[in-house]
Amino acid sequence: MSSAPFKMHQIDGYIESIFLMEYSDGILLLDSGCYNDIPLIENYCLQVLRRPLQDIRLIAISHMHPDHCGGAAVLRQKYGIPIAAHHQVDLWYTGFGGVLQQLLDRCMAFFVARHKHRKWQRLSYRRILNPDYLLDDGDPLPLFPDWQAWHVPGHTLHDLIFFHQQSGFLYVADLICQVRGDHRHPLPILFPDQMAASYDKAAALKASTLLLAHGGIIADANNAELFAYMKNKLLSPPNQMTRRVYRMSVYSPEARKKLNRQRQELS
Ligand SMILES: [Zn+2]
Repeated sequence: MSSAPFKMHQIDGYIESIFLMEYSDGILLLDSGCYNDIPLIENYCLQVLRRPLQDIRLIAISHMHPDHCGGAAVLRQKYGIPIAAHHQVDLWYTGFGGVLQQLLDRCMAFFVARHKHRKWQRLSYRRILNPDYLLDDGDPLPLFPDWQAWHVPGHTLHDLIFFHQQSGFLYVADLICQVRGDHRHPLPILFPDQMAASYDKAAALKASTLLLAHGGIIADANNAELFAYMKNKLLSPPNQMTRRVYRMSVYSPEARKKLNRQRQELS
């Protein structure tokens, strides 16, 4: 693993991994986990790192799903930690469609939790994030300019991944999910064409270590091959589960608009 100016920490959250990058003068939190992961993050900072929560200088959010930004607004409210996310992130859960979609996404997160034998816990969180910093493709992270955000739509329309060129660390969020050594797509993939381009884009970064929200860390793997495999896998026909999750994931007004536009273009 290449030398990095920070120490990486991984917390085993409710249904996902949470990554903290610890610098001497501050901490970068990559996604906040679920709402009920807040005490885990608090305990980790205070007891393991022995640093106050205010030492977290930024929460970088990959997308609006409950296991990625569920705790962000509360961490900001309690400790004044600013949030950075894609500039269109707050379009995702707007209006009635957004209310319904967030509810369905929380149900699906709970379904994953049950599958992992986790107890029921509160997952509700604010639908509108109001990020303090709005990110675009290729932007350096505020306060941590050695990290870059890259826009990789497909799973949603506002997904970001975060890359640290010097160390070769790439936080891929949901781009690749690893289950018992098997590399899987996130559920849902709403826009397969965009997802294919996103895999190409991630591969071009030539990262040496992938940090996965679901499935831990992939170090020293042949990442070009892995991203090509993920892209190629998009051509496989959907199974019953992927079809069901897709049907439950089309209520965000932004997603609907885009899907309708695609349908019109095809007809
Ligand atoms: Zn997700």
